[in-house]
Amino acid sequence: MSEPLEVEDADRPVLAASGSVRVRVPAKVNLHLGVGAVRDDGYHELTTIYHAISLYDEITAARSDKLELTLLGEGEHELPVDDDNLAIRAAQTLAKHVGRPAHVRLHLRKHIPVAGGLAGGSADAAAALVACDALWGTGLSRDELTEVAAAVGSDVPFLVPGGTALGTGRGEVVNPVLAAGTWHWVVAVAHGGLSTPEVYAELARLRKAGRGNKPSTDTSRLLAALRQHDPQVLASALTNDMQAAAISLRPALRRTLRAGEEEGALAGIVSGSGPSCVFLAADADHATQLAARIAGHGVCRTVRTAHGPVPGARVIS
Ligand code: C5P
Repeated sequence: MSEPLEVEDADRPVLAASGSVRVRVPAKVNLHLGVGAVRDDGYHELTTIYHAISLYDEITAARSDKLELTLLGEGEHELPVDDDNLAIRAAQTLAKHVGRPAHVRLHLRKHIPVAGGLAGGSADAAAALVACDALWGTGLSRDELTEVAAAVGSDVPFLVPGGTALGTGRGEVVNPVLAAGTWHWVVAVAHGGLSTPEVYAELARLRKAGRGNKPSTDTSRLLAALRQHDPQVLASALTNDMQAAAISLRPALRRTLRAGEEEGALAGIVSGSGPSCVFLAADADHATQLAARIAGHGVCRTVRTAHGPVPGARVIS
């Protein structure tokens, strides 16, 4: 029998787990995605409101004498299982940070669509960090774990705490925001993914041609809607500077957004760099109806319901 784990806070075991560790991690949507200027390091300055939703990947980390990754589910025939996979990179970065070999057997069960603008890869990285932290008993503080997460990718630090949070810098500086209650969403997943760097490049091209919208930095209405739980205000405050670029690369997204509008979504928006679209529903029943109706348009690969905010990467066994 494995020894009981000592818990430092809600979900951070501080002693090495003796068996394997299973971690669940959510997808994210950006309720506000303001894209500013390109910085000296090539990243864009962001003002974003991250929101974790109930579409989950799961990772199991077990002891091994080498670093290995297997995966099942979304993307199982297309995703790399070597250093190009963010979960592997997360294990390597954490191991280097604490000065130990990156020996772990990782197994991913993926439900979050790949390259969909839902941060599935970053979610897997956050899950791998939390799992390896527990398995290896690194004893890192939250701040150190966030620092390691930021070295792996811009969205990774948010996916450790999850919830709803303001992201600044290149997205890696994360501060929780006050959000009342639960929101209900429909996620329409497109056929095929979009490359985030290509969508950023398209936004730059549109802006150069005077067609992309200016950087949206004002989040005050959105934050008020979240605090007061006002769906109508939230619906009118959802903002994504990358939407025009994603639509320019994938014009069919217009049909998806129109389908949601016709079927009574309170609002619809491209998620992050796309091509997934998210629709705000009035409540859980409305989300279920809306999902069925949008699916009936036959404009996307799959349609799912989700709620948020939910916690980030958490040890579940
Ligand atoms: O940080 P991450 O590796 O997830 O970013 C993926 C890509 O997205 C970067 O290589 C960059 O092209 C783009 N990006 C950006 N500005 C940001 C975040 C990401 O240009 N703030």
